[in-house]
Amino acid sequence: MEAIVAISTPPGYGGIGIIRISGKDSFKIIEKIFEPKNKEKDKIKGYTMKYGKIFDFEGKIIDEVLVTYFVSPKSFTTENMCEINSHGGPIVVKKILELCLENGARMAEPGEFTKIAFLNGRIDLAQSEAIIDMINAKTEKEQQASINQLEGNLSNKINEIREDIMQKMVDIEASIDYPEYDIEEITKGELRKMLERVNIKLKELERNFEKGKLIKDGIKMAIIGRPNAGKSSLLNAILNEDRAIVTEYEGTTRDIIEEFIVIEGIPIKVIDTAGIRNKTEDKIEQIGIEKAKEIAKNADLVIYIIDSSKKLEDEDKEILKLLKDKKVIIVLNKQDLNTEISVETEEIKKINKPKIKLSALKKDGIEQLYKEISEMFRLGEIIIDDSVTVTNERHKEIIKNAQKNTNDSINSIDNNMPIDIIQISIKQTLEELGKITGNTVSEDIIDEIFKKFCLGK
Ligand code: GDP
Repeated sequence: MEAIVAISTPPGYGGIGIIRISGKDSFKIIEKIFEPKNKEKDKIKGYTMKYGKIFDFEGKIIDEVLVTYFVSPKSFTTENMCEINSHGGPIVVKKILELCLENGARMAEPGEFTKIAFLNGRIDLAQSEAIIDMINAKTEKEQQASINQLEGNLSNKINEIREDIMQKMVDIEASIDYPEYDIEEITKGELRKMLERVNIKLKELERNFEKGKLIKDGIKMAIIGRPNAGKSSLLNAILNEDRAIVTEYEGTTRDIIEEFIVIEGIPIKVIDTAGIRNKTEDKIEQIGIEKAKEIAKNADLVIYIIDSSKKLEDEDKEILKLLKDKKVIIVLNKQDLNTEISVETEEIKKINKPKIKLSALKKDGIEQLYKEISEMFRLGEIIIDDSVTVTNERHKEIIKNAQKNTNDSINSIDNNMPIDIIQISIKQTLEELGKITGNTVSEDIIDEIFKKFCLGK
């Protein structure tokens, strides 16, 4: 039998569970375990749904289900497919999955349905990656960027650039066949123009990645300050604050729990600066200048928190000096107590960073902190429209390499290199860009990408 099967709904209890099966023999397998209420033996039509019962080998009824039929090529994978909608209990879905396996289906690998859709040319690689992003999206903006990519706007842009290059490559071939001097000169001139056009488009895509990275990876924020300044209190205030969405999600690739808040649709990830959250008895442990430096290096934003009820310590001053080139917000905490220092205090005044007065304990001033973060990163300006948003690190690397190749080609033209040398570097650009859409990508990379999918997708 040729068919793969998997449970497509998440593990656990739910209203409905979906078992998905794809492959040439899907319908044969379904026929063995499913008895539709309406037993008319008409030809299976695509996009139809049948109500009936699933039976095991001994004829024991397992569940009442609805089966959706997709007839090749009009299905997600382009193969014959069925989706069994059963009751959403873990035992029921597992039992139906087992029945499919016992009747000859093979267990699908993670992402295998999408991989088949890609290999059969229904979607390209960038679109497949958009599906993972869509499933893993943490914010509406990320979801919006994924649907745009799934709709093909990145792929269309890349294909447009590749077609421009290919068209000119045809011209080169002609000039190699007839290597008269002037034809070569004209060709080189036109090639240069084309390469410049390509370069502008690639630069725009690369610039776009800054926005895409913010949407996808968000801002990494570290809270630094001397012991007892109020780091954990601030963290708790942020994560428990009503407006903030606290989501713990299990990455499909890395099994880590990340906590983040969302400000203007952008995820703000809180870096757990060792010990803030798992503070045990090492209260006395100093943050230390070296450690502060290391933490700050990995953060896009440092919240430097000071206990305003005390005088500023030398260590504060030193750490702040060290952070002078970083994006830093100074939080003057414990405003509910009598304050020793304020924004007017000379040594605070001369720190050239935005300052927020706050009481972590009373959760007072958090909104102001959000507003400052939003202004600092101009979060309000990050909007998703129909233009291409590059959110994927892999795509960005490819775009960068392609840009380098284009520059090399332009240099070769300017240095009057022979046309066949120029041709080689232009071909490299074409190959490079093809890795985004998957036209020229190696099997290893394809496997790597689909491994990140969840089972049943
Ligand atoms: P950390 O060592 O920097 O993580 O500091 P903590 O968050 O553990 O706070 C140290 C102490 O200061 C705790 O007893 C907190 O309750 C207290 N604290 C933190 N923020 C405030 C605040 O805004 N006002 C007052 N009155 N106390 C605070």
